[in-house]
Amino acid sequence: MSSMIEVSQLQKSFGSLDVLKQITFDVKPGEVVAVIGPSGSGKSTMLRSLVHLEEVTGGSILICGKALVDNGKYAGNADIREITSTMGMVFQHFNLFPHLTVRGNLELAPRTLKRESVQDITAKSEALLSKVGLADKADVYPAMLSGGQKQRVAIARAMMLNPDILLFDEPTSALDPELTGEVLRVIRQLADENMTMIIVTHEMNFARDVADRVFFMDNGEIAESGTPEQIFGNPQLERTRTFLNRE
Ligand code: ADP
Ligand code: MG
Repeated sequence: MSSMIEVSQLQKSFGSLDVLKQITFDVKPGEVVAVIGPSGSGKSTMLRSLVHLEEVTGGSILICGKALVDNGKYAGNADIREITSTMGMVFQHFNLFPHLTVRGNLELAPRTLKRESVQDITAKSEALLSKVGLADKADVYPAMLSGGQKQRVAIARAMMLNPDILLFDEPTSALDPELTGEVLRVIRQLADENMTMIIVTHEMNFARDVADRVFFMDNGEIAESGTPEQIFGNPQLERTRTFLNRE
């Protein structure tokens, strides 16, 4: 398989507002793509479209070779569920269920899907909590956790269905600066393990460090893309330079 994600001519409008204007890109297995760009440029809408939290108004999205949407036409509901279940997403505001314990948050989706035994699901949630350094928090509620801990729970939860792709939408933007490091370390570890990821971020040093490629989004387009060295070291467009100087 050559691409994990193949997006072509993707278009999304809200009423008369064109939010994504003919976006085309692909992501290879194991690749880490950082998406940067000003607020309102369409970064979240692009990510949300990949997991069908938004319906696009045109273009195509192939995930692991399967068409979620083909030239504006969506697959059937069962196919949409199967295709999107290969991706995990982590949001800026964690989106944990407050009435469930940490373990309950991790196990809800797999227990609902019933693809694996309860013993396997429990073993996996414990392994993933250890991986993100929260083995001792399985039985507490999200309200008892710091923002950095909540986000690490959200990452572990996103991994429960063995995703092939992880999507992050500003995973550290809601955190106090002293808590961003613990979250970025977990993401970096996933990159080292060759997880395929798209990370929308304002952390330029992190993007420079961890990404294989950087997309600069502006006004509904990928205005410029390249290696971190190209984008941060030698940006071609005036608007990329202006954005980077502001950050
Ligand atoms: P970013 O994540 O880069 O800040 P977004 O994808 O959130 O940008 O938003 C892109 C544009 O789409 C913005 O102008 C925003 O106001 C608009 N937008 C996003 N969601 C909606 C919605 N549900 N209804 C109308 N406009 C929206
Ligand atoms: Mg956003």
